[in-house]
Amino acid sequence: MWTASQSLPLLLAPNAAISLLDKCHTLSELRQVHARLVKSGLASNPRVLRRLLLCRARSPNVSFLSDSNNVHECFLLYSRMLSRLDDLHGVEFSLPSLLKTCGKSSSFFQGRQLHAQTARQVFDRMNQRDVISWNSMIAGCLKAGDVDLALALFDEMPQKDIISWNSMIDGLMKCERCDLAEKLFESMAQRDVVTWTAMVSGYVLNGHSDEALELFRRMLDAGVQPDATAIVNVLAAIADLGFCDEGKWVHAYVCRSNIKLVSGVLGSALIDMYSKCGLIDNALSVFRSICHERQVGDWNSMISGLAIHGLGRQAIEIFDEMQRIGVEPNDISFLGLLKACSHSGMIEEGWLYFKLMQERYRMEPGIQHYGCLIDLLSRSGLLEEAQRVIEDLPMEPDVVVWKSILSSCVRHGHVDIGEHAAMRVIELAPHDSSCYTLLSNMYAKFGQWEDVERVRALMKERGVKKIPGCSCIMVKGEVHEFLVGKEMGVGRREVVHSKLEEVIHRLKLQGYEPDLSQVLVDVEEEEKESLLSVHSEKMAIAFGLLNLNKGAPIRIVKNLRVCGDCHSFSKLVSRIYNHEIILRDQNRFHHFKGGSCSCNDYW
Ligand code: ZN
Ligand code: ZN
Repeated sequence: MWTASQSLPLLLAPNAAISLLDKCHTLSELRQVHARLVKSGLASNPRVLRRLLLCRARSPNVSFLSDSNNVHECFLLYSRMLSRLDDLHGVEFSLPSLLKTCGKSSSFFQGRQLHAQTARQVFDRMNQRDVISWNSMIAGCLKAGDVDLALALFDEMPQKDIISWNSMIDGLMKCERCDLAEKLFESMAQRDVVTWTAMVSGYVLNGHSDEALELFRRMLDAGVQPDATAIVNVLAAIADLGFCDEGKWVHAYVCRSNIKLVSGVLGSALIDMYSKCGLIDNALSVFRSICHERQVGDWNSMISGLAIHGLGRQAIEIFDEMQRIGVEPNDISFLGLLKACSHSGMIEEGWLYFKLMQERYRMEPGIQHYGCLIDLLSRSGLLEEAQRVIEDLPMEPDVVVWKSILSSCVRHGHVDIGEHAAMRVIELAPHDSSCYTLLSNMYAKFGQWEDVERVRALMKERGVKKIPGCSCIMVKGEVHEFLVGKEMGVGRREVVHSKLEEVIHRLKLQGYEPDLSQVLVDVEEEEKESLLSVHSEKMAIAFGLLNLNKGAPIRIVKNLRVCGDCHSFSKLVSRIYNHEIILRDQNRFHHFKGGSCSCNDYW
């Protein structure tokens, strides 16, 4: 009769098995031995099992638990072993490394149920659960997205240190549960700088920039000195909101608090903030003060900043300088450059840099680089050339690519190509309202009202909501929001509307004709004119004229693209009222001054 002892003479005794285990250096060796042990029946021997389990803890050069490509297998092995052990003494030594290993690996998510359960079992059976094990366990659950289990464990935890609270807040924010993080934060008896930073960064991560800024103010009021991470995050929030006064204040705070304005993360964040708040000169001066440190991130931020201001030539100069002094550009540098070319209509240069990145720097363009090139070509009306690039794409075109084609079709009037692009966008992002809006705008422009109705019905059927236009203006430290279709406060509405009427009247005397083709619904001409006049940026400009000092720049941030009529309106206001208007729309900046715009009507 065949027996295990005959075919595997080496594994006759547990001692032999243990010495073999001790010789394992990799997971695959360990797996082979484990298979033999199973066959021989020795795998259920408690002594052998314990050795299997603890071989990493006892012999650090056997790294079977940190062989991160094999996390899944590690866990299987681990759980099999656990199910046979009664006394779990010593297991806790493996737990932290196991949880760390799983955290590093994306495969964690696939098997997270099994993993969470396995880990939970170990945890439940551990004799001594110290605060570190609790914290690791909770962090593991949050990383796996199991918020309920994390919360339950947190409640159950006998002693919580500040690290427990902080990692709970951080994890909840990463699980997009701002509400739960807030609740926890408010109930904390003691908070440290990490707590505040976790909240500020969490809000930024979840796109709640206004809340991030608000909390940062509270942090300072509470007398907590923010660390560099909190400042980088609040700068990102300010950049998103476009509030330059706040940004200047934070910059001054950085200088005042002797936080070294090093290049790299903080420097890039400042350059980015100033660019997105419309203060490109401030961005340049920050850049000049740190660029000698030659961090590629700073140069990239500067190139992208100049790009959104339509300062393509200057962006190219920065790139030339970068090459001259030997700062190695990366893929983000080229993305910034291509954007710069796209926002300034520089077709020849766009192609040049697209080729340069491949030929001289041996970089493969990603979908975003192709996206910029396609955007540049289609915006310039070279739709056929753009389509050829799409046909030769080495990857599937994404939503951004099709959207740039679609918006150019609306502008240049190619209904067929536009329809095709719209269908692709709707396939890829069925709930993105902007595509339906663009498509319906295109039909409306050519008077195809039945098609407009069709798109509207489709949106309704799918529950897609149109994003209303919204413009913000900061006056005397306070933000005022103008939203299409939303009532303003009592009294304010009348004042703003009558000012707007007065402005339009004065503009008309100077030759302003409302561009009714921008009204994309089938209504009477007169009604079209009143629909145009309630565009949010016009109301914000009227409000600025009413409340700002004479000649002070009017700074507006808009969530959508500015329409052609509002664009000519703003140009005229800048000349007739002698106010500079700096308008940031969804894509870029428009600096209106003396009757013209920095975008040269190319947007
Ligand atoms: Zn408009
Ligand atoms: Zn413009």
